[in-house]
Amino acid sequence: MLRIGLTGGIGSGKSTVAGLLMQRGATLVDADAISRRLTEPGGAALAAITAEFGAEIVDSSGALNRDRMRQRVFADVAAKRRLEAILHPMIVAETQRQADAAATSVIVFDVPLLVESAQWRGRVDRILVVDCEESTQVARVLARSGLSADAVLVIIAQQASRALRRACADAVIYNDAVSLDGLTHHVEALWQIWVRPKP
Ligand code: ATP
Repeated sequence: MLRIGLTGGIGSGKSTVAGLLMQRGATLVDADAISRRLTEPGGAALAAITAEFGAEIVDSSGALNRDRMRQRVFADVAAKRRLEAILHPMIVAETQRQADAAATSVIVFDVPLLVESAQWRGRVDRILVVDCEESTQVARVLARSGLSADAVLVIIAQQASRALRRACADAVIYNDAVSLDGLTHHVEALWQIWVRPKP
């Protein structure tokens, strides 16, 4: 069993790399998707979140109002901690459940806050970082969302720095000035080293 923690900044290419690892037989456990599901209508975290932050934190569809929540925690570290105290144990329990249910010998944990969290780092055997230049991150996110370049730069500034991520990495895939074919070759090379070591 090999547990790979996959991380990288916004637009770095994490999801693309995760897909290539899945094509090679890995199971993906996506912490972000789990977090979203917990806060969708009927989500398991909503009762505790409304008890803590009030009913107005949920929108008319019954889902967490993410913009409002972001505003609440943006400048309020204590509120951020209270939210994390609700969500993190649930996310950890669900990732563990999915990992236990996996029928493959390689599990990829796509965890946005991997390098920020010692707890997460302790749950994986290897850390794989997808890295690229900031200008490339901005260009990729602009191409697929309605965000402005300034908004993307604000998100990048709030995330762990490229240097910190790389310092935590067991391997770095530099996904810049490389085609999707080239990226596929990088992922395949890593798979051969980590998963199918030559005798
Ligand atoms: P986010 O953090 O926002 O979820 P991400 O790190 O998961 O992003 P991806 O969704 O994998 O990034 O990639 C962002 C976009 O860039 C996608 O449209 C993807 O197809 C494209 N992309 C990623 N790598 C390359 C590449 N090497 N060549 C061309 N396009 C790429």
